[in-house]
Amino acid sequence: MRVLLVEDDPMIGEAVRAALKDAAYAADWVKNGQTALTTLGCQHYDLVLLDLGLPGRDGLEVLASLRARADPVPLVIITARDSLDDRLRGLDGGADDYLLKPFDIAELLARMRAVLRRKGGSAAPLLGNGVVSLDPVLKEAAVAGASPVQLSNREFSLLRALLVRPGAILSRTELEDRIYGWGEEVESNAVEFLIHALRRKLGSDVIRNVRGVGWMVSGGA
Ligand code: CA
Repeated sequence: MRVLLVEDDPMIGEAVRAALKDAAYAADWVKNGQTALTTLGCQHYDLVLLDLGLPGRDGLEVLASLRARADPVPLVIITARDSLDDRLRGLDGGADDYLLKPFDIAELLARMRAVLRRKGGSAAPLLGNGVVSLDPVLKEAAVAGASPVQLSNREFSLLRALLVRPGAILSRTELEDRIYGWGEEVESNAVEFLIHALRRKLGSDVIRNVRGVGWMVSGGA
């Protein structure tokens, strides 16, 4: 999953980006509102983390522009602004959650998971399609009837990207987009390599290849 972090504070930005990477998100970081809007106009993101006090265009303006152009991307505000008025403007303006600085990274990650679940239409903490389930906290996958297997961050990212939409075929580019942030080098056969590793761990039937198009997990029951 790809996350855009919009934050002008270098220390917070660096810490959050590192934590996102650690949690197996592909994370891109921009430092002002205008760049955020431009970036969101040309790249798919699964979630945005938005600071409010930004140089140039303020975070609430960024949020308003996004929703005005009918961009439904899940969005969590992270800010030191704790007035009721700011919180209400953020939530009424279309933010999905609001987290006050300073926050604990573990809470930020939990809230992101909760927002992604709600947006995905599921209250269940595990992703799954009836064949394989994935625990986003432990990064463990389990095929029905077998013990859970630990996945690497990138194996986890790839399987999560597929399990978010069981039955949908994702191309190599779409998978790379969800696994790698800016500046991360992508080997030309990286996706095949990860699929191979996942099949070794979970069995060859879990991920299907649709020749010339991409990969999918079955739509399940
Ligand atoms: Ca700020």
